[in-house]
Amino acid sequence: MFITTVQNLKEKLGEKNIFLSDEEITNLEEVTKKYPLRISDYYFSLIEEKGDVIWNQCIPRIEELNSEFGNEDPLNEENEIPFLTHRYPDRCLLLISNTCAMYCRFCTRKRKVGEVVKNPTRKGIEKALNYIENHKEIRDVILSGGDPLLLSVETLERILIDLRKIEHIEMIRIGTRVPCTMPERITDKLCEMLKRHNKNPILYINTHFEHPKEITKESKKACEKLIDIGIPLGNQSIILKDVNNKPEIFKELNRKLLSIGVKPYYLYQPDLVKGTSHFIGNVKEGLDIIQGLRGHTSGMAVPHFVIDAPGGGGKIPILPNYTKLQKNGNVKMKNYEGKDFKYNFKN
Ligand SMILES: *Cc1c(COP(=O)(O)O)cnc(C)c1O
Ligand code: SF4
Repeated sequence: MFITTVQNLKEKLGEKNIFLSDEEITNLEEVTKKYPLRISDYYFSLIEEKGDVIWNQCIPRIEELNSEFGNEDPLNEENEIPFLTHRYPDRCLLLISNTCAMYCRFCTRKRKVGEVVKNPTRKGIEKALNYIENHKEIRDVILSGGDPLLLSVETLERILIDLRKIEHIEMIRIGTRVPCTMPERITDKLCEMLKRHNKNPILYINTHFEHPKEITKESKKACEKLIDIGIPLGNQSIILKDVNNKPEIFKELNRKLLSIGVKPYYLYQPDLVKGTSHFIGNVKEGLDIIQGLRGHTSGMAVPHFVIDAPGGGGKIPILPNYTKLQKNGNVKMKNYEGKDFKYNFKN
């Protein structure tokens, strides 16, 4: 089901006629001592050649050991309540799993994903639930990890049942990359369970696609099954070097997402995470992507481009410069073609 060792990876690549040099194998072994390897068979099947956009997301690179740059917890998520981050007034993030179908090499939570010792415990989660119960201002709970859909259906159901007992929760969001990395995990059993719990409060799912190549008949089917049980789907992408840092790629990705019922929600500038510097490009690339989308294709295909402020300041939107607000309240603007316009209601 999963490739987790360098030996197994080497064999499976051999079946695709992709061969690794001794140096590449040594490097893989070095990196995986620090950051574990895990690739679902399905995601692995999407690799066509060494260094393609799928490969770059799942195969470790020696640059991960470049420890000069970045921080293990750049968003200051760790705090006194384990597994819970309450940064914004009315919503919180609950990390209920530390495994994923595939360990993305660029993951923000590289520090904890895959580490068995840090697996959220039943007791830990109960404490977090108590906190939510005692904070009546929390109306939106985001389940993340790791990947919540890697928990057993029973474990996830238990958590949903407990959350649904808390009256002030109006919505629950699940963040999962499973529709993209292990679509067969969206089973009938999982869908039946989610369907039992998708009202009062309502459920949303935000998934995570990075490249149009990931939209296959399998991932489309997984999304369809979730839509069939009435769950609205959004997508979050990260701009990654050697994967997707170009406007044309996002135009295609976001159109394809909309065509399978998934609304692009956030586009992230990568967090400054230790071991991921080789993925991080200039913020201008993100602005170019947004400019390449706005006006040029459906507005629904334009996500919010944000930087999650280092140190825990939350998500801050970064916008291309379309407008110049004048002192008298009028505004000078440029449209998507770069033409000038004015909106004057005061002279
Ligand atoms: C991203 C995030 C949220 C949700 O933010 P929205 O803008 O509402 O999607 C909530 N809490 C934390 C800690 C987050 O990182
Ligand atoms: S699926 Fe999400 S949490 Fe898991 S490794 Fe990828 S980015 Fe990290």
